Amino acid sequence: MLKPNHNYENLKDSYLFYRIAQKTRAYVESHDGAYLYRLGIGDVSLPLCDEVIKALHEAVDDQAKKETFHGYMPECGAHFFRTAVASYYQHRGVKIDPEEVFVSSGASDELGDILDLFDKSDDALIPEPAYPAYVDANVMAGRKIVHLASGKDNGFLPVPDDGVKAQILYICSPNNPTGAVFTKEKLKKWVDYANATGAVILFDAAYEAFIEDDSLPHSIFEIEGARTCAIEICSLSKTAGFTGTRCGYTVIPKELEREGMNLNAMWVRNRTTKTNGVSYILQKGAAAVFTEEGQKQIRANIAVYKRNAKYLTDALDKLGIWYCGGKNAPYIWMKCPRGMSSWEFFDFLLEKAQIVGTPGEGFGSCGEGYFRFSTFGSPEDTKIAAEKLIELLSE
Ligand code: PLP
Repeated sequence: MLKPNHNYENLKDSYLFYRIAQKTRAYVESHDGAYLYRLGIGDVSLPLCDEVIKALHEAVDDQAKKETFHGYMPECGAHFFRTAVASYYQHRGVKIDPEEVFVSSGASDELGDILDLFDKSDDALIPEPAYPAYVDANVMAGRKIVHLASGKDNGFLPVPDDGVKAQILYICSPNNPTGAVFTKEKLKKWVDYANATGAVILFDAAYEAFIEDDSLPHSIFEIEGARTCAIEICSLSKTAGFTGTRCGYTVIPKELEREGMNLNAMWVRNRTTKTNGVSYILQKGAAAVFTEEGQKQIRANIAVYKRNAKYLTDALDKLGIWYCGGKNAPYIWMKCPRGMSSWEFFDFLLEKAQIVGTPGEGFGSCGEGYFRFSTFGSPEDTKIAAEKLIELLSE
């Protein structure tokens, strides 16, 4: 009899988005198909930019001709893609060798797959509130999870203390769900801790392109010492609207070694065994994001989401409600007003203003009493939702 992976029995039902979908469906059915202002889901609403579309079309045409046709791509990434990413880092003064860049089908895939590099006995530290996939990927792998709660007192940016004991350290900055961003000084504390203890940081930089404050780090490799303790996982999903197109990249420095094993070399071995690369067409489209024109165009899309954020943060400022995020991140994390719990506030907003957000409790127990707004929705709806918030909560 085959023995299945019984760790799956330890997974909690992923009830957050399921419960949101159930509640919103029930509301619409009982309110004559009422229109909802959807600020819940973290999916983009703007299409790919012209520069990416042009590159995708050209790459499709390449595949139609014998002289330009590409079969299997190099598993770790096409040279043109790896150099495009390396020069993107170089623009911010971070020196990365193209061979330290690995193409991926997105950050989710990579966040799960990368665990292959670690032993089962390595514990994973997950600062919470957290993107739920971090927890589930480690539960599936049967790994012990150390939950590190954060809160309003530390601006949802915890730093390690002597009590922290884990070998795999997750850091997401700008953060989903809180929108909080680590300063260089605070991030340095994690880097020093990892180097001192031999831990490895998995730095999720999926939202780096939303940072507008020049003093904040886009990459952990802006921090001295990170090359010997960190892996950075990035995605073009939110940066350039690739949620349905799929492409990302991972940076593993060649200096990163533990117990005489080189993690960059191990990942080369992993990729060449477990993947046959990302398609030529997609890598061409993704590389166009890093051209001068591509950058201009994706920045214009990000500016639309930033304007959405401003509608909402202006409303919260006017109401005197505490929040973080929104400025350097596409998420706004607010304190639920009037002492409401996350789900009470969810129901209240849905009933009274037809606004759908995400209850903070779904991202870990320390998220109770908080609520997440996504700024990826339509500007028209976000503007109306912000006005409705003011009207509802100033009563
Ligand atoms: N990491 C974080 C923090 C995210 O919020 C998301 C998606 O919402 C991802 C990773 C996954 O991104 P991708 O679409 O590249 O799989």
